Amino acid sequence: MADIRNCARCGRLFSSTGNRICPACLAEDEKRFQKVAAYLKEHPLADVLEVSQGTGVEEHVILEFVRTGRLEAVGLGEKLQVQCERCGRPIRSGRYCAACQKELAEALAQNTAAQPKSVEDADMYITEFKLRKQSRKE
Ligand SMILES: [Zn+2]
Ligand SMILES: [Zn+2]
Repeated sequence: MADIRNCARCGRLFSSTGNRICPACLAEDEKRFQKVAAYLKEHPLADVLEVSQGTGVEEHVILEFVRTGRLEAVGLGEKLQVQCERCGRPIRSGRYCAACQKELAEALAQNTAAQPKSVEDADMYITEFKLRKQSRKE
């Protein structure tokens, strides 16, 4: 279901089907993401500052990619640390640590009547899925 909301990036109103940013910003993001991903391929140990200088993409945008689980902080070196938004533990990507994700998922399952924060929840599940894939690799 589409609803009208403000773009989290540029503040313009747009019709959202779950996205936090508008289509224009999304396209812009995709370009930046490709740049950052390409840079990291050549410089796998670069930290966020080097990536920012090398690509012209602002640091907070790079961190946003990590936070949303699109990039893994481990590829960006030690300086780029993401913290669990709930308990503050350092994590590699996403918004919550594995323990908090589990608790949140359980709380969610127990309380289906709670007003769902659809975007946040979707993010959480994507991150959880990614983490599961990662731990299988290790
Ligand atoms: Zn926008
Ligand atoms: Zn946590």
